[in-house]
This record gives sequence, structure tokens and C-alpha cells, in this order.
Amino acid sequence: MEIENLVAALRHYDGPVLKIMEICGTHTAAIFKSGIRSLLSPKIKLISGPGCPVCVTPAAFIDRCVGYAQKENHVLLTFGDMVKVPGSSGSLATAKGEGARVELMYSPLEAVEKARAHPHLTYVVAAVGFETTAPAYGLALEEAVAGGVKNLKFVTALKTVPPALDWICRHETGIDGFLCPGHVSVIIGSDAYRPLSAAFQRPFAVAGFEPEHILAALYDLVRRLEGGRKAGVHNLYGNAVKAKGNAKALALLERCFVPGAAMWRGLGMIPGSGLYLKEAYAAYDGGGRGLDSDVALPAACRCDDVITGRIEPGDCPLFGGGCTPSSPHGPCMVSAEGACGIWYRHSPVKGGNKR
Ligand code: SF4
Repeated sequence: MEIENLVAALRHYDGPVLKIMEICGTHTAAIFKSGIRSLLSPKIKLISGPGCPVCVTPAAFIDRCVGYAQKENHVLLTFGDMVKVPGSSGSLATAKGEGARVELMYSPLEAVEKARAHPHLTYVVAAVGFETTAPAYGLALEEAVAGGVKNLKFVTALKTVPPALDWICRHETGIDGFLCPGHVSVIIGSDAYRPLSAAFQRPFAVAGFEPEHILAALYDLVRRLEGGRKAGVHNLYGNAVKAKGNAKALALLERCFVPGAAMWRGLGMIPGSGLYLKEAYAAYDGGGRGLDSDVALPAACRCDDVITGRIEPGDCPLFGGGCTPSSPHGPCMVSAEGACGIWYRHSPVKGGNKR
């Protein structure tokens, strides 16, 4: 179908209100940048889901990382988007300002190089991410083992998306369909959503990140919901996503990690949703298990409601006032993939609710 016709169909949709969750923060950002929301019928509601790894990393993990950064002869390595995320008593940025050793990395393999170059220091990698980034940590781990690098540890908050979607389907029953994350789907494959779609009778559509990809997936979901065809997974990103995913990456994950329960900030403990270092790599394990109670979100922060779609970022009383990207109150305002930060950066008005 021509893009104009597809947009017209979405604009003129006049059936029951449909709530569609875009799971992935990259989709949220693309939707805002391209103005897709303004093209849709008011009866099609887009909801931002929990697909930002930084937003769902519990404050207890930040506290653990701060603890490593403050330890003598230890250096905490992290991607930049974790630095400002609040822990229970401050962020890594705060700790760094007070003398703790926090360094940015651009790839987990860099950690191996640093550890090799500075054998008198212990480098601790804050391993945060979903199936998309987990293989990079696995590669670094195998590289360290192969090279005999022993002064390296991984403190893990790696998570997998399907168990979180299972949680969403069980607890947030008002969501009608799901726009599946393109990058995660490249690794896990489109078939990974079939059990969820069948169990909860919801349509899933895998989409790329160009506006026309997203519009085509939204049209696909709306058309199926309109027609009463609720179950089924449609892969509309077939040039990148295979049904069974990326076999090499999945084998790497299988070699390095074992699944276990994980704490999601705002959602709670979700069985089987974490990836932890296998016993064979215990010497490299800086912890990650045992974050089974999250410290509370900062007072008045509604990140838990934002990542489950119960409210939109603009509904939070702190949005654009007490909470901005330069002075974030919660993780959803910090990350480039966090819904609050995306809404703030791409909305013409910087306060209050807006579509
Ligand atoms: Fe939390 Fe800030 Fe988002 Fe409110 S605007 S939910 S305080 S991150």
C-alpha cells in the first residue's frame, strides 16, 4: 500500500480506542522525531513500554556500581547513559564528583584493553542492556578469558525482553497490540513472540525504525485488531530479523550466561528475565544476582507508571519542572531511550501533558 493511503487509513480510523505499546525506546524516539503521533487518529493511542534498559535498571544496581567505584584500586566502567541515573543516595556522576573512579566506555571490549594495560587496577564493567547488547559483554568476557586478563569483573543487570512482555500482558490487560523492538528481534528472532501472542491473544508486529516501517507496522496491527484477528506475529522487518534470530549471538549468550530472576525498576522481580555469568566464569562475576529488593524511586517520580503505559510522561507532576534532562529526577528522563527524556526533547512545549 502507498504510504499516503496507509497514513490516511490510520488518520481516519474510527473504531474502538486501541492502545498499542511500542516496547522499544528507539521506536519511541523515532515516533517522536518523525511526528507519527500527529498523523494518527485520536482513537489510536501509542504507549511507551519498558524497552529502555537504563530505565528499568534498579537503583540498588547503581548503588552497587557506586560501591565499586569508591573501592580502592577499582575503576567502574560504564556507558554514558548510566552516569546520571539516580541510585538511593546519588548517581555515578555524584560519586565521581566526590573522587570515585568512574570511566566511560564505548564498547565492552575496551574494558579488556584497559584491564590489560593497567594490571594493578581492577576494572568493573557495569553490564546493562537487553539481548541486543548482551552479546558484546559475552565477547569481552571470552576475550578476557582467552587473553588471561584476570583484573576484570562484570556487575550485571542484563535483561531479556520476552519475560517482561509476559509480565506486561498479565498485569496491563488494556494493551491491545505490540510493536516489537527491531534491534532485540534481530537477536532473538520474530518467533520469540509467538508463545506470548498465542497465550494472550494479542497481535505483535516487528518493525524497523524508519517512519514508513513504523507506520506499516501500526497499520498492520490496527487492521488485524479491527478485523478481530488478535493472535499472530507479523515480521515487517524481514531484511534484518529472521524467524529464529541470530544463531551466533544466541550461541554466545548460551555459552556465557544463565537466565535467572531479575529486578526491573518499577515492575519488580520477573522470573527468568535476567542474564547472569555462568558458574565457569565466577572469577569474573562482580555480582548482579541478589538485587531482589529495589530501593524506592525518588519521591513523586512516576517512572513505574510511565514504563507500563499507565500514564504518559506529561502526566507526571515533575515533568519539565522539577525533572528535566539536565536535572533528572528519575531514570526515564536520563536515558536517550527513556520515554520522559524523549517527550521532553521532542515536544514543543516543555511542561504538562501533550500528545
Ligand atoms: Fe520520573 Fe521525571 Fe519521568 Fe516524572 S518526568 S516520571 S520524575 S523521570
